[in-house]
Amino acid sequence: MHQKSLSELAAGLRAGEFTSEALTRHFLDRIERFDGELNSVVTVTADAALEAAREADRRIAAGDAGPLTGIPFLHKDIFCTDGVRTSCGSRMLDNFEAPYDATVTEKLRQAGAVMLGKTNMDEFAMGSSNETSFYGPVKNPWDTGRVPGGSSGGSAAAVAARLAPLATGTDTGGSIRQPAALCGITGIKPTYGRVSRYGMIAFASSLDQGGPFATSAADAALLLEAMSGFDPRDSTSIDRPVEDYSAALEQDLDGLVIGLPKEFFDDGLDARVRAVIDAAIEEYRRLGATVKEISLPNSGLSVPVYYVVAPAECSSNLSRMDGVRFGHRCEDPKDLDDLYTRSRGEGFGAEVKRRIMIGTYALSAGYYDAYYLKAQQIRRLIRDDFVKAFEEVDVIMGPTSPTTAFRLGEKSDDPVTMYLSDIYTIAVNLAGLPGMSIPAGLVDGLPVGLQLIGDYFAEGRLLNIAHQYQKVTDWHTRCPAGYE
Ligand code: GLN
Repeated sequence: MHQKSLSELAAGLRAGEFTSEALTRHFLDRIERFDGELNSVVTVTADAALEAAREADRRIAAGDAGPLTGIPFLHKDIFCTDGVRTSCGSRMLDNFEAPYDATVTEKLRQAGAVMLGKTNMDEFAMGSSNETSFYGPVKNPWDTGRVPGGSSGGSAAAVAARLAPLATGTDTGGSIRQPAALCGITGIKPTYGRVSRYGMIAFASSLDQGGPFATSAADAALLLEAMSGFDPRDSTSIDRPVEDYSAALEQDLDGLVIGLPKEFFDDGLDARVRAVIDAAIEEYRRLGATVKEISLPNSGLSVPVYYVVAPAECSSNLSRMDGVRFGHRCEDPKDLDDLYTRSRGEGFGAEVKRRIMIGTYALSAGYYDAYYLKAQQIRRLIRDDFVKAFEEVDVIMGPTSPTTAFRLGEKSDDPVTMYLSDIYTIAVNLAGLPGMSIPAGLVDGLPVGLQLIGDYFAEGRLLNIAHQYQKVTDWHTRCPAGYE
């Protein structure tokens, strides 16, 4: 059952071949069997899942089912879930049960999707390897000595190991695309404002976007459709109708113009990863596309710009965690200062503290103009490069990540090297554009992701371009050994 596509699962449910309850038990059993090693799930909500599955079975029997009714999924532990712990991978929120649902949580509940539990992640979504989690690192199912990518590494590893057919993620600088690439699955970060951020714990509010993980673009389309839509509770949500992403999948690619930014094929790119990307582009030529070299001249500045903007915003967002209202509180504080200092000192891990320090510094009087304001100005130039490129091309392609999955511990002592693993993904967040990663090959048995970047609100087109590739290739059907 865990190798079926969503449309096969939905058809099976409707035809009565199996119930949602049986399907849910099947995936809960897989989590039980495999997750001891992978550590991709931090909270399993088995009883609630089985109850939701029985309710879905009643809806299916009554003929009131949508495409996700009765389908199990895992939820990144950054989305608030009423009555279920939302830890954000942090000791700070280890004891936090949100009193309400995130909009995305609510939408998936209404769609009848069955939440199996919450996935492990880098602490407050800060990381590229899932090693900053308070709950320990997640292992990559393709090689358990390696990282799954981050920060949505738990979601990506779980879908790759077929512990759930779908999972949610968030992407601030690459956290959907990079783990999708390193785990050999499909993930899409929508246009900024497409998916509500209400109840999604904020890291860097001007960059954060939620999105889906699945094995295929066709499955990701269904989850994205359910997650998307205007939300008056998120002031940056965009009031624009949601496309029927599934209906757009079958358009052919004849005449598609692909832009290849020369900055994405630089010396930092592993030559064997490059060969996989070149082969994928060849496949697109066979599908009728033409290819053009383009330039995104300011994209080389995206990592330094991001590491001013994201820490600045996180230093402000995380100030609400002060030991007073919710989250970790130190023992026996002697006064208010001691309460703040020790609660935050004990509750946050090293990477989070590093970011808060950088952000506070960049925002302080005297430095604001030199760092934050300057970074915002360059951010505009990075965006303008994309706007110009989309006057000439329909889609931009390149690698998602410069390398395949690296070893656990390999980069954890060197933050700058770690930051560079998002070198091809970050510019997309700074510009607010949609981006996607799809499996395109293997190097030494490890997956390589092809990144597709679209114009604003071109999610449907990206999914279409990905789906056409997946119709003529089988990389997305590859499953790591031992999880078949
Ligand atoms: N790896 C990047 C960071 O550490 C991006 C994380 C993300 O997209 N949430 O900030």
